[in-house]
Amino acid sequence: MPFPSGEKKVLIVTGASRGIGAAVARLAAQDGYAVCVGYLGNSAAADAVVASIVDRGGVALAVQADVAVERDVVRLFGEVDASLGKLTALVNNAGILERQSRVEDMDAARIGRVFATNVIGSFICAREAVRRMSIRHGGAGGAIVNLSSRASRLGSPGEYVDYAASKAAIDTFTIGLAKEVAAEGIRVNAVSPGIIYTDIHASGGDPDRVDRMKDVVPMKRGGTADEVARAVLWLLSDDASYTTGASIDVAGGR
Ligand code: NAP
Repeated sequence: MPFPSGEKKVLIVTGASRGIGAAVARLAAQDGYAVCVGYLGNSAAADAVVASIVDRGGVALAVQADVAVERDVVRLFGEVDASLGKLTALVNNAGILERQSRVEDMDAARIGRVFATNVIGSFICAREAVRRMSIRHGGAGGAIVNLSSRASRLGSPGEYVDYAASKAAIDTFTIGLAKEVAAEGIRVNAVSPGIIYTDIHASGGDPDRVDRMKDVVPMKRGGTADEVARAVLWLLSDDASYTTGASIDVAGGR
């Protein structure tokens, strides 16, 4: 049954059950978007994000999809077509890192998992978005924001060089896709967060990483998911109408 999104702008946020993605979904709903809250396995968290949006009069839909699985991505976009309507924007936010490790101790399976989610997942989601939004395909244009990381230029030695390299791929992907679709009504930009208070650090085996490292940040503190989300929302908005292929650091000066 279609949701009452009416003439609302329609946004897909991958990995929106927690952390930065959840903050983007909530802020976008306040800004008038009907929001698809993508998630991998934590349906309770995704449902809570949807409930918080609906309680404030917004429109949101939770959809489970592993971005590393192409048929899941195709299904997610199909569900949004059917339930929320014509796609306006995509935030490629779902991303993972694995336990802190040196490169000499990484195996191919680990590196493959990181690249499958962070890089291939972002490509396939962008592909589905371009097929819907490009004026070349009869669409009305739109905007894509990719979550990169300051790690793409810092390299994350001794922690996760695989993750950092996957985010460097996202930087290049952002520049290339931006140029490819610039004349087709689609802007493509990136946000590069520094160290932000979310669960991702626990999955690296270092839940207190932000507080441990905050003194290396010129502003002497970690960032919040909301601070990152505000940059994402600006890049999605018409205020950024002449900005494409760009990247904004949200990293306290680091
Ligand atoms: P997080 O708190 O760990 O949340 C990850 C989100 O991604 C969850 O919603 C999770 O869903 C979802 N997810 C994970 N794997 C997925 C997959 N294969 N398919 C679909 N969804 C998947 O992460 P975060 O810290 O908010 O990070 C968000 C983005 O910002 C990532 O791209 C990350 O690399 C980037 N970033 C974060 C920081 C930071 O310090 N936090 C810094 C730089 C860049 P479930 O809840 O269902 O598991």
